[in-house]
Amino acid sequence: MTTTARLRDELGDRLVLPGDEHYDRMRTVWNAMVDRRPRMIVRCAGPDDVAAAIRLAREQGLEIGVRCGGHSVLGISVPDDGLMIDLTPMGAVTVDPATRRARVQGGALLGALDIAAQQHGLATTAGNVSHTGVGGLTLGGGMGWLARQYGLSCDNVVSYEVVTASGERLRASRDEHPDLYWGLRGGGGNFGIVTEFEFQLHPVGTRAYVAELTYPLDAAAAVLRGWRDLSAEAPRQATFTASMGRGLATVGYVWAGDTEHAADLLPPLRSLGVPVTENVGELSYVELQTREDSPEGHAFRRYWKGHYVRGLPDEAIDAMVEHGGVDMGISLQAYGGAIADVPDDDAAFSQRDAAFEYVAASRWDDPAEDAERMAVARRTAAAIEPFSSGAYVNALSDEGAAGVRRAYRPAKLDRLTTVKTAYDPENVFHLNHNIAPAAR
Ligand code: FAD
Repeated sequence: MTTTARLRDELGDRLVLPGDEHYDRMRTVWNAMVDRRPRMIVRCAGPDDVAAAIRLAREQGLEIGVRCGGHSVLGISVPDDGLMIDLTPMGAVTVDPATRRARVQGGALLGALDIAAQQHGLATTAGNVSHTGVGGLTLGGGMGWLARQYGLSCDNVVSYEVVTASGERLRASRDEHPDLYWGLRGGGGNFGIVTEFEFQLHPVGTRAYVAELTYPLDAAAAVLRGWRDLSAEAPRQATFTASMGRGLATVGYVWAGDTEHAADLLPPLRSLGVPVTENVGELSYVELQTREDSPEGHAFRRYWKGHYVRGLPDEAIDAMVEHGGVDMGISLQAYGGAIADVPDDDAAFSQRDAAFEYVAASRWDDPAEDAERMAVARRTAAAIEPFSSGAYVNALSDEGAAGVRRAYRPAKLDRLTTVKTAYDPENVFHLNHNIAPAAR
């Protein structure tokens, strides 16, 4: 029997090979620039399949890519000529309203978590676009509208079920493999494949509120200064947001949870200037969590650059506004609150002192524009570099090892290296923002 015939025999329709009917659909991810061809795709239905796929890749000497939501901008879940471990069949979420816990399989999307939890008026911190994967987002940290109240997504993970590079199945929590538990909270996909996340949920109700005021670019510098000052005083339910591009600047906030006082921040915001348009009002929490799904949809070419900043001095605002005419989106989202309450050494996530996350993101259709679009994004983000205190690992793109050093400060990187060396000494999981194991 040939190797392929043997594998077909063992794995059945869980094995997808080039030429198979669904092969092209299964190697397609969010960023249309990613066009890589795995030698095989294994669609995993549970931890045993994951362990078998890791074993197979190691036997065949194939690089492993791990796919959950497929939203890493680099498309690192799709290995060229390697083996893609496709977790998307593992998308189930089970909520226990009595204990306020959710069990979330390793291939689930954020929307599945939000919808299951909201049936009980519960939620936990998840990102802003529902077709993003719980896997990649949570392993890198996980920022969302509830983070200033309840911490990052990773701060809400009580335990992880993991398959390691050697195929071993482990549970990581504060009491079991605490070093692995520490690394999984912010260290990305470096240490193993998570087949189940157990999340703490919170009673947030089902309503939310959004306020967005849009100004012409020539008003932006003054408005952003006022918005920054209001953000510093904002209650934890409010996450201040700003965006710029194509000659307009929008400032505002998203309020999650009981909306009784949500509109209180609107008068001071309105006093900053006369907006050209306003988008203000209540919506359901699930609507909030899906509001950006369409503009952030699949099938476009994408590139981004991100920074964390500890503050926004006037000079940083001026540098941003100078680039506000670009044909792309520049955005700011406030951190602080419960994110900063967690002691820095509690988890691998390294940037709890960030005041804002800055991202310059471009979206286009024509491959002929690739070089120019990427150059503009790099140039735009470079204007903020002097004010940057680091980067979010999930917002890294093509920075390589230098990006990893921006995401994790030196003491964290040392500890991450120790965890990596313990659980993946041969760097089997290296198609990620890689923490290299110590040399043997
Ligand atoms: P994938 O490409 O499937 O996975 C990325 C990597 O994560 C994999 O290569 C693997 O190394 C690892 N991985 C994924 N699942 C597992 C698993 N179960 N076990 C082990 N390793 C795994 N981030 C935020 O914090 N907040 C946001 O609001 C937010 N919004 C976003 C909106 C959009 C439209 C996009 C594209 C990204 C957004 N991000 C946000 C960034 C996001 O967190 C990262 O892009 C993340 O990598 C996406 O995870 P994924 O599972 O979809 O991606």
